[in-house]
Amino acid sequence: MLVVECQGRTTSSERSISIPASATRNLKKVVTRKFSRRALRGLAIVATGGQIRRVNDRLFFVKSQTHYREHRVEWSDGGWSCDCEDYLNRKRDCKHVYAVLYALSLPDILLANSEALERSCPYCGSNDVLRDGSRKNKFGIVQIYLCSTCGRKFREGIGGEVKGRKALFMLLALDLFCKGVSLRDIRNHIWQIYNVTVPTSTIHSWVVKLTQVILKVSGKLEPEVADRWLADEMVINVNGKRMYLWNIIDYKTRFHIASLLSESRGEEEACRVLTEAIRVAGKAPRELVTDGLASYKKGIQRAQKNGIRIKHISNVGITKEANNNRIERRHGGIRTWIRIKRGMKERAGELIAGNVAYYNFIRPHMSLGDEPPCQISETNRWLSLLRKTIDIRRNVGKPADNE
Ligand SMILES: [Zn+2]
Ligand SMILES: [Zn+2]
Repeated sequence: MLVVECQGRTTSSERSISIPASATRNLKKVVTRKFSRRALRGLAIVATGGQIRRVNDRLFFVKSQTHYREHRVEWSDGGWSCDCEDYLNRKRDCKHVYAVLYALSLPDILLANSEALERSCPYCGSNDVLRDGSRKNKFGIVQIYLCSTCGRKFREGIGGEVKGRKALFMLLALDLFCKGVSLRDIRNHIWQIYNVTVPTSTIHSWVVKLTQVILKVSGKLEPEVADRWLADEMVINVNGKRMYLWNIIDYKTRFHIASLLSESRGEEEACRVLTEAIRVAGKAPRELVTDGLASYKKGIQRAQKNGIRIKHISNVGITKEANNNRIERRHGGIRTWIRIKRGMKERAGELIAGNVAYYNFIRPHMSLGDEPPCQISETNRWLSLLRKTIDIRRNVGKPADNE
């Protein structure tokens, strides 16, 4: 009712609202970002669908919007050209070139709109970021941003360290890989849906690269774990070799705290995985439940020498409370995942670590109310996890408050 009464009236106070300088600067940039008439027509061609025929990465045919023919859009001498009259007269991008550029940029556009996050500088983390023109290249249109705080330029990306056009495919590959899809099937999926051919070796290197980024992030997160941990080891096949995979998970939250791949099953390895788990959790457990392997006893004794008291509960299955079912189930999950991949080959340790991150932060867990064991954001998405690298970089070199 109040709104209706006020309609059409502008009071003097409304006119003189003061807007901070930074806001108007951003506003100005947004307003000045315009699409040219040709760019808009190019977008319309893409939106219509079925107008662009891809021959290869450098050659496309775009249906003429007025005649019954096709225009040849080609990448040569470091630029896109077209055989239409408009291009031949002006030697500048015509609507057909724009159509191809936007079609090529679709993965970037998808990614940029998949999460409503403020764009932030990958170098300093500042949100005071402006558009700074775009580049047109073989891969489409690349938007360039300028950070007002540190003055550096950057491209759209999915985290502090992964930038550029392939970002969507990298993310897609990681997600499918962790869900158990084989590299060959991921390659086929990218080809089926995006009409892009990628060798499986490239997909493998993407998964490794993103996993490394995620490990940097997850190493900095302090998970909330309780006082009873479960430890067990399983045998897996790596490059035709029998190896042991040691795992420690938290009983209550089911958080997978640490894992270790080793050739033997001795005291040394038991100590290493336990030490790693204590480092990740930032504390030691009160109880460690195991299958009774002697190596754990020695590991616990060694921890005791360093002043850490851990009660060892072995021979499980006797008391329901302390049973090892939860870690057995986790092992079952890992086993299935490896079986689909027909065994682990190169960089097995890193790929397993990626699977652990997927299990801890992404995958909904039925018995945890469809949440993962560790909540990193409301969405539990790879994108949120990867973007944490920006926060981490921002905090590097900054003195801690209590120092
Ligand atoms: Zn043209
Ligand atoms: Zn910056």
